[in-house]
Amino acid sequence: MTVRVRQLIAGRWRDGTGPRSESRNPARPGEVVADLAVATEPDLDEAVRAAAVAAAEWRLAAMHERAEVLGAAARLLDARAEEYGSELTREEGKTLAEGVGEVRRAAEIFRFNAGEADREAGEIYSSPRRGESIMVVRRPLGVVAVITPWNFPAAIPAWKIAPALVHGNAVVWKPASLVPLLAMRLAETLTEAGLPDGVLSLLLGPGALGTRLVEHPGVAALSFTGSTEVGTRLMQTCARLRKPVQAELGGKNAAVVLADADLDHAAAEVIAGAMRSTGQKCTATSRLVVDAAVEDALLDRVCRLAAGLRVGDGLRPDVDLGPAASADARGEILTAVEGAVAGGAEVLTGRTPYADTERAEGYFVPPTVLRLADPRLAVWRDEVFGPVLSVVRAAGRDEALRLANDSAFGLSGAVFTNDLDFVLRAMSEFKVGVLHVNSETAGADPHVPFGGVKDSGYGPKEQGRAARDFYTHTTTVYLRAS
Ligand code: NAD
Repeated sequence: MTVRVRQLIAGRWRDGTGPRSESRNPARPGEVVADLAVATEPDLDEAVRAAAVAAAEWRLAAMHERAEVLGAAARLLDARAEEYGSELTREEGKTLAEGVGEVRRAAEIFRFNAGEADREAGEIYSSPRRGESIMVVRRPLGVVAVITPWNFPAAIPAWKIAPALVHGNAVVWKPASLVPLLAMRLAETLTEAGLPDGVLSLLLGPGALGTRLVEHPGVAALSFTGSTEVGTRLMQTCARLRKPVQAELGGKNAAVVLADADLDHAAAEVIAGAMRSTGQKCTATSRLVVDAAVEDALLDRVCRLAAGLRVGDGLRPDVDLGPAASADARGEILTAVEGAVAGGAEVLTGRTPYADTERAEGYFVPPTVLRLADPRLAVWRDEVFGPVLSVVRAAGRDEALRLANDSAFGLSGAVFTNDLDFVLRAMSEFKVGVLHVNSETAGADPHVPFGGVKDSGYGPKEQGRAARDFYTHTTTVYLRAS
């Protein structure tokens, strides 16, 4: 069944004024999931103008009133997790368990942010002058542009929109074109939960519309998640226009397994990190650095687990891995693997595309493990957004840490060891924004900061209490009674 998707502009659900577009099920590309008319610049202008008017009222509401809307949205999402989760699977491809889990995660994120109303909202300092105190109060930015990728169509928008709203901003949101249905579901949930007209607008359209949105004079700031290439261009635009920007970008995350690690546990975690969600996570484990002393023993376990993963339509209960999200995504993954093989990588498992009709027609990619003698290969450096793990051997701890840091990116990392010295060293020297000790590289709880360093992120971190550092500015008040 194809769902007719609409834009949310100035509090009204309506078609965009642009050409028609659709999303398709990546497991069965003949199936159209959603159909819509895309938004254009006049639609964008209407949305931003309405947002500016709505923002002026919304910021005056008590924070507890704003939080009430998020709390109601969380309850609605929980109640509809199965329904929206299966739509997520049909539109993006991840398994049903992952789709439902992601919708529940979005609810959890809304709940955490609703709790902001019960937490401290500023600071008071003593003053060196008698009869004065100094307060730091927080104020919203105004209208914030939110631009999101396709790989977490519910959770990533939720972790941007929820803090933006609770701190009193209005949001104009442009999601990725591959996932319009889930975007509409999230926006519907918020309007049903009681969000006033114009406080959130949803604009579905091509990437270029995102640039126009950021450039619009009514937009005060940008929160972006997506590729390093697009993010860098938008950061330049924001710098030119002197608009605050928060950008979460690509990753090339490494797991380090030392000789003392529990190899069964490490192998299971590494494969979960590399392959879950078909490897289409910014925090996916993409590089494995293994101590030479346990290389064969670990890789034997890793390859057995990878080869045993069941790949198919994510709606089927017996499937571990869905398809890549699009034909382009699959093409890029397969090209990266072939490039690595041409450069001398040894295929330990995977690579060969599926020949059966169902998986040859859908955008399926076999879980692939490559052993590299040369870490200068592109597959070691460039993000491969798919179920591909590249392995390099290290002669001891120093080399392991050096190889783990051998990347332009710095989003997440994992170390598997019980050596406290090495863990302490990794805490200080492994250049990542998220570090896991004896667990996989993916995973981000809503109540703690999330984001990368180096080429993986720019600006204040997301999630947890860190989110308000982006969505508010401080005003320092020197307060005296005359
Ligand atoms: P993308 O950069 O192609 O698109 C992201 C968003 O930007 C989409 O909404 C897209 O329509 C929009 N966009 C594209 N071109 C634009 C332009 N010229 N101007 C303005 N907006 C434009 O990324 P994607 O393919 O949707 O997502 C995959 C990427 O996202 C990967 O690189 C992944 O690592 C990254 N990602 C990072 C994180 C993180 O937190 N660090 C999380 C998830 C995904």
